[in-house]
Amino acid sequence: MASHPADNHTALVMQHAGLTLLLDCGPTIMRQLERVGMSAGDPTHVYLSHQHGDHLLGLPMLLLNRVLFWSDRPLYVVAERRVLAFAQQLVQTVYPDLPMSPTIQYVALETNGGGDLPLAPGVRYTLAAGRHSVPTWAVRFDLAGGSMVYSSDTGRSEEIAQLAVGADLLVHEAYFARQPEKSFDTHSVAADVAMLAARAGVKTLALVHRQEPDVVAALSYHAAAAHYFDGEILVPQAGDTYQVQEAVTEIC
Ligand SMILES: [Zn+2]
Ligand SMILES: [Zn+2]
Repeated sequence: MASHPADNHTALVMQHAGLTLLLDCGPTIMRQLERVGMSAGDPTHVYLSHQHGDHLLGLPMLLLNRVLFWSDRPLYVVAERRVLAFAQQLVQTVYPDLPMSPTIQYVALETNGGGDLPLAPGVRYTLAAGRHSVPTWAVRFDLAGGSMVYSSDTGRSEEIAQLAVGADLLVHEAYFARQPEKSFDTHSVAADVAMLAARAGVKTLALVHRQEPDVVAALSYHAAAAHYFDGEILVPQAGDTYQVQEAVTEIC
């Protein structure tokens, strides 16, 4: 997650064997990739969780750069069917004249039972519905030697609690450090996320998409979660990298 409010858009990169998977693609994605030493040419896959601009608006620029400079490298844009349709519509609206390279493929993901990521044998995905103001999908990846769950934007979701059972790393949004005065059910509070992580038995919990992304506020997010979760708690800043057994997750 970026530490400056102006580019406070969640983006994660998961690397494993030949896979470089970008999770969500907000408007400042080009700068976020640069921060972790990457370019538009690097991702092999882009996963999109939902249609909100802070998760989707960078896709046209990523694809434009890809077509201009790395048109020979295959790129799979993957999402639940309706989210994928929004993404295609967005790219088509802002770049109707973009010559879509045959190396760029849009692939709809299964919501029942999951499957293998295209061109990534051994990387299994499973989706679960989040609770948000628009439909959103959390995703779990199981691969040799590790598992990782990304919550997307969500309030309390039993489906995500089930999805996270036994995961090595749960990257969950925690918009609020403490319960807001007005009840808010489309984003999460750090304590609730920590309880979910404890119940699911995850090893490591990373709190992202925080309303207050700076380093000082990170302490209050960490403290709120530590009341309820005994495992490792990460409150990542932009550019942080974590090794989950064989898979590496970078926060950009
Ligand atoms: Zn959202
Ligand atoms: Zn968001």
